[in-house]
Amino acid sequence: MNFISVHRQSPAVGFRDALMHGLAPDGGLFVPESFPRLPSSLLDRFELASLHEVGAEVARLFIKDIPLPDLRRIVERALSFPIPLSKLDDRFVLLELFHGPTLAFKDVGARFMAETLSHYLERERRELTILVATSGDTGSAVAHGFFNVPHVEVFILYPSGKISKLQEQQMTTLGGNIHALEVDGPFDDCQRLVKQALSDGTIERELTTANSINIGRLIPQIIYYVWGVAQLRSMGVAEPPTVVVPSGNFGNLTAAVYAKHLGAPIGRLFAATNKNDVVPEYFETGRFSPRPSLQTLSNAMDVGNPSNFARLLDLYGGSLDRMREDIDAGRVSDEETLAEIRNTFGQAGVVLDPHTAVGVFAARKRVSGSALIAATAHYGKFPEVTLRALGKTFPPPPALAEALTKPKQSVRIPANYEALKRILRDG
Ligand SMILES: *Cc1c(COP(=O)(O)O)cnc(C)c1O
Repeated sequence: MNFISVHRQSPAVGFRDALMHGLAPDGGLFVPESFPRLPSSLLDRFELASLHEVGAEVARLFIKDIPLPDLRRIVERALSFPIPLSKLDDRFVLLELFHGPTLAFKDVGARFMAETLSHYLERERRELTILVATSGDTGSAVAHGFFNVPHVEVFILYPSGKISKLQEQQMTTLGGNIHALEVDGPFDDCQRLVKQALSDGTIERELTTANSINIGRLIPQIIYYVWGVAQLRSMGVAEPPTVVVPSGNFGNLTAAVYAKHLGAPIGRLFAATNKNDVVPEYFETGRFSPRPSLQTLSNAMDVGNPSNFARLLDLYGGSLDRMREDIDAGRVSDEETLAEIRNTFGQAGVVLDPHTAVGVFAARKRVSGSALIAATAHYGKFPEVTLRALGKTFPPPPALAEALTKPKQSVRIPANYEALKRILRDG
């Protein structure tokens, strides 16, 4: 299995190179060259397979140069927490992706990327430095994913005063190989500094980044959709469900679409956005018009130019009609999000985070039949939203409570490149 660029101007590469480089030399995102079918040996005992078995079967379809025992170990380490399903009612089931260390689905991709990268570095006897600019959630997932991973140093650049206390604590309290840099400037400055470092040939370290378009973060996300529909069967749901994904950059939705293309029993896909509705608008009008993002309650989905959409367009040959055969899309407002948190709490006693609430609202409005809804974060990460919706909060889960008590370890730097360069040289 090789990976090719959506621009088709670069040669096909194996998983290792796609992982190491992130983007193809022609600037395009990497996509799988083909979609092999899930083996019948897995589908025949689908409901009985464990998360790790499903994980190894999916991973080996795409990753040919890691021996199977190593791949199994990577899957076990990356998916070291459960991914349970929970019933909301007769038709809707949540796929709980938020039981990892930072309580959001991004843990899965970050941890798998860290483990696979470490595998190659070990064999090649190399050290790698990863730079990430973050506006919040990606940084904490990457920090935890790479914490104590051999051969890797991580520098996380975040905008001072622009992220929540909780987000800051989650990425500044680890220490070890994780270095948090608090930048005196907005997120755009962080991103600029990272880009400058990556293109500066004079730095002695080998540098790369770990942003969300890396195929090493996407492949493991396919695993939990295959696992989810298998578990749904074991719960007695016979028809292939609609899979509903609260979406921002559309990586998570792309993974669900890939799962269907591997032959997992998925009916349709539904992409639920907040008012950053570039994709729903495209489905309605055929026009794709990226624009600056707007702030909402589901802020990890505040994306005005969803980068993974290039992968979906590529898969469907640029045809909206073909895309519509598999996918629907719709937008959900902040008011509807709050109303859904209240509604679901009243009906099922379940507290939703604002991102998952977007998915549940969209499912109730637009899906007939059964749905598997990706629950992308734990509500404990968004206490202000819970308070606004329900008039009360709940004690934070242990992982968050613990992060809040640890001392912050970060280095404050001005938003200029010389400051970053000095740290990379001496740190
Ligand atoms: C990142 C994120 C999303 C959006 O996922 P994409 O893959 O960018 O579409 C949804 N919910 C939560 C909680 C997130 O952190």
